[in-house]
Amino acid sequence: MSSIPPARDAAPEGARPRKPRYPVQVRRVQRLTPRMVRVTFGGEELASFGRPGPASHIKLIFSADAPGTGESAQDAARPTMRTYTPRRFDADAREIDVDFVIHGEGPASAWAEQAAVGQRLTIAGPGRSYAVDSAADWYVLAGDDTAIPAIGTILESLPPSVKALVLLEVADGAEEHAAQVRSANTEIRWLRRGPDARNAGRELEAAVRRIELPVGSGRIYVACESDAMRRIRRHLLHERQFPRAHLVTRGYWRLGETDHPDRDYGEDIG
Ligand SMILES: Cc1cc2nc3c(=O)[nH]c(=O)nc-3n(C[C@H](O)[C@H](O)[C@H](O)COP(=O)(O)OP(=O)(O)OC[C@H]3O[C@@H](n4cnc5c(N)ncnc54)[C@H](O)[C@@H]3O)c2cc1C
Repeated sequence: MSSIPPARDAAPEGARPRKPRYPVQVRRVQRLTPRMVRVTFGGEELASFGRPGPASHIKLIFSADAPGTGESAQDAARPTMRTYTPRRFDADAREIDVDFVIHGEGPASAWAEQAAVGQRLTIAGPGRSYAVDSAADWYVLAGDDTAIPAIGTILESLPPSVKALVLLEVADGAEEHAAQVRSANTEIRWLRRGPDARNAGRELEAAVRRIELPVGSGRIYVACESDAMRRIRRHLLHERQFPRAHLVTRGYWRLGETDHPDRDYGEDIG
């Protein structure tokens, strides 16, 4: 079956070129935990979607009058967009899974809470991915619930011989789902922060401070609330002298901020 090429908008001069856009429809909705919903999007145009690498991202573009966006078709200057991880991409089935944290406020969280088969939105992407180094002896992957999908894709890309320690901070025990996460050579430590989002990243930071880094050449990936990410980055670089070139940190969201930018690597922490 031939597919229609996805729309490519012209980017303004000096801006990053816009990613191709794909109209999709909700095919399945699955509640993974009380606070996490997996939505499977499908669309024929996804036949030409670029294969996403580990911890890649996509933009979900909600139409102006989609439930939860709080905007009307008339007054929305630009559609609401948020950044998510393509947890699974199946080119043959033309499907992408996205695992949404239901955190209580925000158009994307509200949309995911009411998501139903047949609803439409637009996906743009995929964005840059994380470069897994097969020469590394070990990995530490640390994140909050928003990073469980990204960490899952990194784990699936690691050579089987590489040891991985995974630190995952979630609200409570009901959120501890490790679906599709490899188990050989992987140790997962769950951390519980409780229901108050103001505590985001505290348990993760404490756990990173406690770990003894193994000998050999290691890599560390951290993705969580932005301020917590900075505290963890500062600790690793300044207190532990962990090599900068082997550390990737990402602020996936920021307490009190709407639509935190997707390019927050904490590089201001020198
Ligand atoms: C590269 C990348 C990949 C990502 N992948 C995923 C993913 O796969 N799954 C996923 O769930 N999220 C993911 N995120 C995070 C997601 O983009 C943000 O949580 C986003 O803010 C959600 O949009 P919203 O409309 O629900 O809330 P917004 O409108 O952006 O924010 C509204 C309010 O909610 C707060 N808030 C936002 N997120 C959270 C949260 N998780 N917990 C508590 N409070 C929050 C904000 O501080 C703000 O006060 C990713 C982010 C990046 C940069």
